[in-house]
Amino acid sequence: MTFDVVIIGGGPAGLAAALALGRARKSVLLCDAGPRRNAAAVHMHNFVTRDGTPPEVFRQIGREQLAHYPNVEIRDVKVLGVTGVSGAFLVEVEGARIEARRIIVCTGMIDEGLPIEGFEALWGHAIFQCPYCHGWEVRDRHWGYLARGPEGLDFGLFLRGWTDQVTVFTGASFEVPAGAAERLHAGGVVLETRPIARLEAQGRALVGVLLEDGARVPCEFLYVHGPQRHVEVVRQLGLALDRDGYVVVDAMTRQSSVPGIYAAGDLTTRAQGAIYAASMGTQAAGMVNHDLTMETVRAQASR
Ligand SMILES: Cc1cc2nc3c(=O)[nH]c(=O)nc-3n(C[C@H](O)[C@H](O)[C@H](O)COP(=O)(O)OP(=O)(O)OC[C@H]3O[C@@H](n4cnc5c(N)ncnc54)[C@H](O)[C@@H]3O)c2cc1C
Repeated sequence: MTFDVVIIGGGPAGLAAALALGRARKSVLLCDAGPRRNAAAVHMHNFVTRDGTPPEVFRQIGREQLAHYPNVEIRDVKVLGVTGVSGAFLVEVEGARIEARRIIVCTGMIDEGLPIEGFEALWGHAIFQCPYCHGWEVRDRHWGYLARGPEGLDFGLFLRGWTDQVTVFTGASFEVPAGAAERLHAGGVVLETRPIARLEAQGRALVGVLLEDGARVPCEFLYVHGPQRHVEVVRQLGLALDRDGYVVVDAMTRQSSVPGIYAAGDLTTRAQGAIYAASMGTQAAGMVNHDLTMETVRAQASR
């Protein structure tokens, strides 16, 4: 059997794409395996109708709703690679090879973390990347922002929307440009440029940031935009990446640089959020469905 579409990745983007294609009567295989982006998070916020839902419940509901569509199959398998061309792809999964007319890649990104003692255990509990996702619940507390370059410094000012107590840390990793320190000071943000020794925690709670000179800065929630990488299959597909490392897609169709391969969700942008990813998945599915339907109808008409 040749599937109309194989979707790689069953997060918000992949689930949304499968729903739209299922409802459009396309035969769909959704392959999902491996770590999910927000694995460390207990609740997912800022998704209308799902605010506060545990991420695994969100996925479970998505799968339950897909079960209404017999033309959608879900397999908990890892996609190892894809060969072939648009209309005749060969998808290699663990233990099988599957034929597909189109591919939608929804594999998310992997957060690499930072080499600071205490970072890994606190990720998703007291260290976050997005105040829309994890801001309201911890408003008016001691927040920190770990800037990784001068261009990120003003993010500390933005965090003042949630709390008056913001410290921007540079960890002495770069020079603070003249003017940036004044802007932060004028905006009521403390700038801390001394090297960081480690994060001080009590269980999953962050208590403070310990500096190398022994000083301790109160900080209960730390925001950071850490490095991210793609899963292996994205490299294997040879998709063009932008200068920040995200998969380049056409804004309208979400088709990548490889004809017949589309991409949706975190792997295409640093503007990351579950509802954005779901929206991109729906958009990609709509365009793939249009493409496939017109291809079939035209082929029938020309017979
Ligand atoms: C700690 C944390 C908390 C967050 N909290 C929120 C929040 O509260 N609200 C919010 O809107 N957003 C939140 N986000 C962001 C949100 O999780 C992402 O934007 C969203 O999950 C992206 O969806 P996606 O479908 O693009 O990717 P993902 O959700 O990462 O899903 C990708 C899927 O692809 C699968 N996969 C990867 N490679 C393969 C392969 N080779 N074969 C098969 N399957 C594969 C993975 O296993 C995974 O299931 C949070 C992120 C983090 C890190």
